[in-house]
Amino acid sequence: MLRSARIAPTTVRLARGYASSASNVKAAEISALSQIARQYADEVSSKWAGTSATGGNTKNFIGGQFTDSKAKDWLEVRDPGKTFADAQGDVGRGLQVVEAATAITSTLLGDKLEVTNDMDTYSRRLPLGVTAAITPFNFPAMIVLWSAALATVTGNTLIVKPSERDPGATMIIAELCKKAGLPDGVFNVVHGSANTVNAICDAPEIKAISFVGGDTAGKHIYDRAIVQGKRVQANLGAKNHAVIMPDANKNLTLNAVAGAAFGAAGQRCMALSVAIFVGESRKWIPELIERAKGLKVSGGFEEGADLGPVISPQARERIESLIGSVEKEGGKILLDGRGHVVPEYPNGNFVGPTVVEVDTNMSAYKNEIFGPVLNIISAETMDEAIDIINANKYGNGAAIFTNSGATARKFEIQAEPGQIGINVAIPVPLPMFNWSGSKGSFMGDIPFYGKTGLDFYTVRKTTTALWPHQDSLSSRAAVSMPQIN
Ligand code: NAD
Repeated sequence: MLRSARIAPTTVRLARGYASSASNVKAAEISALSQIARQYADEVSSKWAGTSATGGNTKNFIGGQFTDSKAKDWLEVRDPGKTFADAQGDVGRGLQVVEAATAITSTLLGDKLEVTNDMDTYSRRLPLGVTAAITPFNFPAMIVLWSAALATVTGNTLIVKPSERDPGATMIIAELCKKAGLPDGVFNVVHGSANTVNAICDAPEIKAISFVGGDTAGKHIYDRAIVQGKRVQANLGAKNHAVIMPDANKNLTLNAVAGAAFGAAGQRCMALSVAIFVGESRKWIPELIERAKGLKVSGGFEEGADLGPVISPQARERIESLIGSVEKEGGKILLDGRGHVVPEYPNGNFVGPTVVEVDTNMSAYKNEIFGPVLNIISAETMDEAIDIINANKYGNGAAIFTNSGATARKFEIQAEPGQIGINVAIPVPLPMFNWSGSKGSFMGDIPFYGKTGLDFYTVRKTTTALWPHQDSLSSRAAVSMPQIN
């Protein structure tokens, strides 16, 4: 990982497609690195063969070899600026999936029943063959590991197309796979954007695609791949609500909501982007704003940084424009993070924690912002809050903060999103459970990891076998349909 956000917008370059000819990185881009950044960039590049944090071209990883792309067009890769602590969480949550997958000798056990005399029916799971994963920028290690672990322990090979905005973690995972002894060709990496993705959708050899990312790409990939008979699971965008009841533990609630709304600069699919204050809990809004103001915005490796920059200048512009839309549409900006400057990083893509008061017709509420922006809505009752959540097109997650078990129980049954938190702001389940949202946050039939993860990467086959014990003596053929009683 590169400690270079201060001066190094450009770190590595990435082939745009995967089929033309290579070109070298420009000297000007390399010299944009500071002394400090250069030191870390050199360290990363010297340790990990597939990465080039010093400004070179990112390689593909095919058949166990790092190979140079033949592309003519290259994309610029900038420092993603996740905070170091959040990056450690990214790797840790990914490793939990790997750990769960190592129980495969137990979880892959089939079923067997002696269905009648001398006749057994049993099932086994078989791999699909070649599978692919197309992943987003915001968890560059964890989401790759969701697929890498389950696809490979079930006997498939995998082609990963990581986000073109931060491919480095995938390249490090590729090298670790090789060092761990994974046979060449089992885990492969190709780069690029839409052209590479389309080639994956169209390749008849690829039997399944695991996609995580935004709605537009997800729908495109799902529609294109499914008509070709591929199995597709697509985790998409989100708008996650927290319902704050007046009987909640105020301190726990405000810390949890602030952390989940602004952590990772709001660039998590399970970030809390809407807080619905029910009744008297509305009085806590000023205190929530004070906590948001107290968060430190800085480079991801800076001591005590709570939020790093957002992923790109375009993302910052979009987020700032959605914040601006609130006042134009009649809402209120209670805390404005637009134009946030961190003196040590004058060119960083920073947006400070932002709190806006909205209604459900406003653009800032209707769209996934994917930035450190918390929408605030007031409701008189929990029923009203549940109606708001269920009317939203997304269904990734929702949380309730309360000290009443009965209130929580009603909420978990009636709120529609796929993951429910009770006094837990980001209820992403551990990998022994399955994970995917509902409604507009998911396309496909088989969710990620857990038992369903095994279903996604395998096909079931049943065998019915008859070994008549008298066979060695029998001389007459049985011509009627066998009956199983
Ligand atoms: P993105 O959709 O821009 O990119 C995801 C992948 O799709 C990348 O590999 C990209 O190259 C590819 N892609 C992008 N546009 C494409 C196109 N037009 N045609 C073909 N392929 C295309 O998403 P992102 O900005 O990297 O990630 C943020 C999004 O991911 C958010 O919407 C977030 O909610 C979602 N996300 C969802 C989950 C989940 O589990 N539900 C987890 C993480 C992120």
